[in-house]
Amino acid sequence: MEKLTIEIPAQSVVIRHALCPHGHDLMDPLHPMDGDASIRVVVRGPRATGTLRFHPAYGNHAVETDLSLRDGEVYELLCPECGSSLSHREERCLFCSAPLFVFYTPRGGHVVGCTRKGCHHHRLELVDLESQLASLFQDELKPRY
Ligand SMILES: [Zn+2]
Ligand SMILES: [Zn+2]
Repeated sequence: MEKLTIEIPAQSVVIRHALCPHGHDLMDPLHPMDGDASIRVVVRGPRATGTLRFHPAYGNHAVETDLSLRDGEVYELLCPECGSSLSHREERCLFCSAPLFVFYTPRGGHVVGCTRKGCHHHRLELVDLESQLASLFQDELKPRY
């Protein structure tokens, strides 16, 4: 399939569905960030394990966590439901070579990001682009002023 890269204005897309490899929904509507359900995962670092919430707006790097994360350290992300690792099986970060994590979105899309704190490499991969773009821009384009 042809690969097409599109530029999405930062934070204009809000992730509504993020799944572990076994299909558990990682969205946490009980802990919204800026009014939208956050993405909740278990974070395992070199010293401790805790909970991490990602801001659902794509490109917003805000996180909430009970673990003290240190810039430059690599953290493994796990599904809070089944404990599966969210690490990408094949790829590593192009910038810092840390493992990448992946969230699955409906219809075969992915959100991929770097597991190293402070490295903001990430991307959104959409499969079935036409229908996904249509739904993204109809339902999920949020105005930011
Ligand atoms: Zn799971
Ligand atoms: Zn990286």
